[in-house]
Amino acid sequence: TGAEEAGNAAAETSAAPETAPVPLSEVAHSGEIPVPESLIDQVIGQEHAVEVMRKAAIQRRHVLMIGTPGTGKSMLAKAMAELLPKEEMQDILIYPNTEDPNEPVVRTVPSGRGKEIVGAHKQEARKRTQTRSTLILLLIFGIMGYALISGQLLFGIIAAAFIFMALQYSRPKEEAMVPKLLVSTKPDSTAPFIDGTGSHAGALLGDVRHDPFQSGGLETPSHDRVEAGAIHKAHKGVLFIDEINTLTPHSQQSLLTALQEGEYSITGQSERSSGAMVRTEPVPCRFVMVAAGNLDGVQGMHPALRSRIRGYGYEVYMQETMPDTPENRDKFIRFIAQEVKNDGKIPHFDQEAIDELMLEARRRSNRKGHLTLKLRDMGGLIRVAGDLARQEGAEIATARHVLDAKSMARSIEDQISDEYIRRSREYDLTVVEGALVGRVNGLAVMGTDSGSVLPIVAEVTPTQGATGQVIATGLLKEIAQESIKNVSAIIKKFTGKDIKNMDVHIQFLGTYSGVEGDSASVTVATGVISAIENIPVRQDVAMTGSLSVRGQVLPIGGVTYKIEAAAKAGIRKVIIPQSNLADVVIEEEYKKMVEIVPVTTIEEVLEHALMFERKEDFMAKIKEISARRLSIFSEK
Ligand code: ADP
Repeated sequence: TGAEEAGNAAAETSAAPETAPVPLSEVAHSGEIPVPESLIDQVIGQEHAVEVMRKAAIQRRHVLMIGTPGTGKSMLAKAMAELLPKEEMQDILIYPNTEDPNEPVVRTVPSGRGKEIVGAHKQEARKRTQTRSTLILLLIFGIMGYALISGQLLFGIIAAAFIFMALQYSRPKEEAMVPKLLVSTKPDSTAPFIDGTGSHAGALLGDVRHDPFQSGGLETPSHDRVEAGAIHKAHKGVLFIDEINTLTPHSQQSLLTALQEGEYSITGQSERSSGAMVRTEPVPCRFVMVAAGNLDGVQGMHPALRSRIRGYGYEVYMQETMPDTPENRDKFIRFIAQEVKNDGKIPHFDQEAIDELMLEARRRSNRKGHLTLKLRDMGGLIRVAGDLARQEGAEIATARHVLDAKSMARSIEDQISDEYIRRSREYDLTVVEGALVGRVNGLAVMGTDSGSVLPIVAEVTPTQGATGQVIATGLLKEIAQESIKNVSAIIKKFTGKDIKNMDVHIQFLGTYSGVEGDSASVTVATGVISAIENIPVRQDVAMTGSLSVRGQVLPIGGVTYKIEAAAKAGIRKVIIPQSNLADVVIEEEYKKMVEIVPVTTIEEVLEHALMFERKEDFMAKIKEISARRLSIFSEK
């Protein structure tokens, strides 16, 4: 079709931008970009996952996808359902079992037939009930007529009532014999895609409803109370389960059985219910399983289920970022066009708005020369910007709309962090001027996209016990604890003093949610050295960086957010690892507010952060020490 050709053309354009007549990055607005028709071609930046999905679809293999939310896992699973080889779809019917009412009979018929069969049965039942009613009426009239003629009216009434009651009571439940259409499909439709994420056992594996009236002619027949589960609805299609580890072990075990057998009997899932007595014949459920989760989650999933998927399928790791190349930039622009088209209500984006979104994608990637692939969030931003434009009645969304959207659609963490900065300034928790001994402004990331200034205070006292200790407070998590230990080695080297004879106290200020990671180790080292040597630390400087035991400053995450938080708090100079310099994508307004100082060693950190007349002496001393250290190293 024309649309498909347009889609293919777009794919070719993005694959070979140099041969394309007009690069996507030069179109006037996103509306000029063709959007591919099929879902699999709309997936961006996950080339490996796409390839695996294509392969898995052809061979009907299971897939386990590992990765961050919003990178396209469910999109890929849906795309896989479109790609599954064409098969005859089936309807599943469930019939009453006259021999054992507790084991309803299961039958499969070609797609579309199910509805017809149930319809025919219903009509049949209706017809039979009608004939029966007519017969009863005739009989009663006959008796009454005879009674009238023969003058035995009383006898007539009694006889008629008796016959009526007897026939009513012994009436076979015609309608109760009608089969139930458990799973119905449309002929010629693509394979079903069923999302079973977060389902309880009943929704996942099927259930038999409870019947409060279990006898006396009022009961609902058992086959009529059977409900299909996600595994049955996904028969011959794709069953997608995100956060697979959140399923109960029992559900995971049952899922495994279903995978292995390709059929699974439905029974009542609550033990006390009358449904638990019913167990259908096996119901077919030959689905392709696409399970997803983040790495921790997947490690927590049922080992047998995981090994089954691995043994009969693929495991894919989803990318979080893609390199910032012309080709990928084109793909990103196509993503914008896609989101606009799929939303259907928002206007397209002009070139400047696209540039602004691209900048945001770079910023969110948190990695030099990359664009983020957490596209669900990017899609959210696009929609907010589009809504803003639409409210104004604008024909096209511009850079201003994107900027407004960015300040509106901020994460909870970011909003909290702003609030925290505001408050802590009110209470002088954040000091951004002058110099203080032992106090250093560190930087941390809250959530995934919001930085905050995290001051630490260090104090040194003569030891109380036999040997000195490093005591850190402020809810430090494991890695942070470890990093403090590494710091002691540095301190020993740089101050020449053995910390055996002293207790070093380090307090992280205002850490309500705990400190993770080791990006504060540079801060800690600076604070402790300042405390031991009694040299004040400049408070208009903030820093972040991880420290090796040899004193090198190693890269950390979230550098952009940290710098922005420092700027917002009023810091003038931010010390960051040299190796993170290319990750910095800060917004214009902050560029004027802070100076960014990239460093490679702790010596440089101290040079920028410490402040005293004796600093010269101290710097000479640490240079001498580090020279010694290097010479030892080179001798080896
Ligand atoms: P996940 O299942 O990984 O949490 P989804 O597949 O639900 O993420 O993604 C949500 C939405 O984000 C999709 O519907 C799509 O609009 C957009 N999206 C996410 N990843 C991609 C991608 N790789 N390519 C194109 N769009 C994407």
